[in-house]
Amino acid sequence: MIVRAITTACRTARERNWTRIYWAVDIHGTMMPPTHRGGDLPRTFYDHAREVLQLASKREDICLILYTCSHDHELKEYLTLFREHDIHFDFVNENPEVQNTAYGNYDKKPYFNVLFEDKAGFDPESDWLPVLELLKDPAGIRW
Ligand SMILES: [Mg+2]
Repeated sequence: MIVRAITTACRTARERNWTRIYWAVDIHGTMMPPTHRGGDLPRTFYDHAREVLQLASKREDICLILYTCSHDHELKEYLTLFREHDIHFDFVNENPEVQNTAYGNYDKKPYFNVLFEDKAGFDPESDWLPVLELLKDPAGIRW
C-alpha cells in the first residue's frame, strides 16, 4: 500500500514537474514501538525504519516531515535522537514549502504526498522493507 502511494506520488511529480515529494512520518507505532509511558521515550526502531529514513534524509527529492502528537519537550529529545541516527527531518507538523492554493488550504493540515502512519494503515512490521527495497532500486523512486 505504501509503495503504491510512493509510486503514485512519483507519477504525479513527473506529470507536474515537481522537484520533490513530501513524506509525512509518524513516530509511535510507525517508526518506533511505543513505550506507553510518559517521559520514557522509545529508543528502538522497527526493522528497516532507520535505514529507510537515513536514505530518505540524504535525498533532495524527498522532503521528510515529522508528523507527531509528541509534546514540545519530547520533540527536542526525539529530534536529537534522530540526528544521532543520521535521520534529518525538514519540518515538524508543517510544510511551509506548500502554500494555500485555490483548491487547497494547508493552514491546519500540512501538505504531503505520502503518509507513514500506523493509524492510517501503515504496518510497521511489514511495510518498511518494501520501501527500503524501493529506495535501493535505482529505478525505484524517480521521475
Ligand atoms: Mg502512531
